[in-house]
Amino acid sequence: MNLKPVIGLEIHVQLKTNSKMFCACDNSGEEKPINTTVCPVCLGHPGTLPVPNKTAIEWAIFSALALSCEIPLESKFDRKHYFYPDLPKGYQISQYDEPFGKNGFLFIEDKKIRINRLHLEEDAAKLLHSKVQGCTIIDFNRAGTPLMEIVTEPDIESPETAGNTLRELRAIMRSLQVSEADMEKGHLRCDANISLKKEGSRVLNPKIEIKNLNSFRAVERALNYEIKRQEQLWKDGKAPSHQSTRGWNDERGITEEQREKESAHDYRYFPEPDIPPIKFKIADIRAIKKTLPELPKQKRERFHKQYEFSISDANLLTRDYALADYAEKVMSELLAWMESIEQESEENSGQRLAKLAANWLINNLAPLVKNDWKTLSVSPENFAEFVSLILEGKISSRAGQTVLQKMLLTGTDPVDIIQTENLAQTHDEGELAEVVSKVIAENQKVVSDFRAGKTNAVKPLIGAIMKKTKGRANPKVAEELLKKMISE
Ligand SMILES: [Zn+2]
Repeated sequence: MNLKPVIGLEIHVQLKTNSKMFCACDNSGEEKPINTTVCPVCLGHPGTLPVPNKTAIEWAIFSALALSCEIPLESKFDRKHYFYPDLPKGYQISQYDEPFGKNGFLFIEDKKIRINRLHLEEDAAKLLHSKVQGCTIIDFNRAGTPLMEIVTEPDIESPETAGNTLRELRAIMRSLQVSEADMEKGHLRCDANISLKKEGSRVLNPKIEIKNLNSFRAVERALNYEIKRQEQLWKDGKAPSHQSTRGWNDERGITEEQREKESAHDYRYFPEPDIPPIKFKIADIRAIKKTLPELPKQKRERFHKQYEFSISDANLLTRDYALADYAEKVMSELLAWMESIEQESEENSGQRLAKLAANWLINNLAPLVKNDWKTLSVSPENFAEFVSLILEGKISSRAGQTVLQKMLLTGTDPVDIIQTENLAQTHDEGELAEVVSKVIAENQKVVSDFRAGKTNAVKPLIGAIMKKTKGRANPKVAEELLKKMISE
């Protein structure tokens, strides 16, 4: 029996509006002392009235448009009833049958993933379980934060695609600047539902919903685990016969049974009587659509075409809005520089430049910056100059590491650092010969291995030369000289 996974995602995105969804409270409460950004409305006191946040609604429409959703001209809010300590009213204001967006889609790895709906609701309070005091504290700062829920159709066929769908949504939300969409901080949350079906079959079987997925890795791991678990159930003739909810235990790497999943009628949805229906004019929606920025998919394609980044580099560079912005500034400097020097040659082709710049941005600069691009002391101009120095062979990659770290510390021009630190690459055979003969003398064993035909033995010798010259030696010149001197 060949079984195929059928996966759908339910994603929650916290919007970073100034105030909360239905009251004027500060919406940055999660960074503030607990229970300080609250008022009678978000504490659910009787007799208070919710007033919808206009910006949150506009951002929901904005996001729905970015996901190619249809925008109904009339929507409404509903009450979703359930009892939980983090929900003071005993119901959540959400949207049931008239969401702000429906029937959208996005492309992941060239496959269309349909979006069933996008709606707006209020976040619940946060429960802090204190093991020391043996009690649970409720922090209401988060209660009433605008929360956007995006539900995909079960069009996802693998855990990897599920992870990539989530990554793409993060990139979209960041490019729209409506959310930080940081999974670790809970700005972006995901529940995944999964069932298996026989290959070729169109029947959807009862799904298992997995909760408590706090990272991209957790989403992929939990789905992989659940596929194996359900495959075994099918083999044993015990395929899931009803929907249920399981929680992901990240430490143990397993999903655990929580409860049978509620269906809509358990929530006793009814229209929120305190908020009139929200109506839009076509002109309003068109006006919002006009302000849509370039989306990650368009940006990736443009980066590939305009700057000659490879597809995979373009993907990595555009995952983070701030990195993409920085990369763009660096490339425009580099292209201007390239135009100012002579004709393109094989050595200095646009592709080679893009490859080198991407490598230094993705593998060297980004890990050092750790997502804090706002306080980065290296200007795009200086970084572009740095890349050009490597391209021209004025410094080696090894010395480049040192130069880049100094640039981050001091914010100075790379040329100044190269001069004061004496890091310029040298091709000078006279100067290098001295170092090479020292290295030969100190590594007799490796040298004799090389003489005996172990060609790989040249690598540690080059490494020793680079170390002695603090990366100044031109590796090609050094290697030639080394081979020449060994065979003499
Ligand atoms: Zn409030």
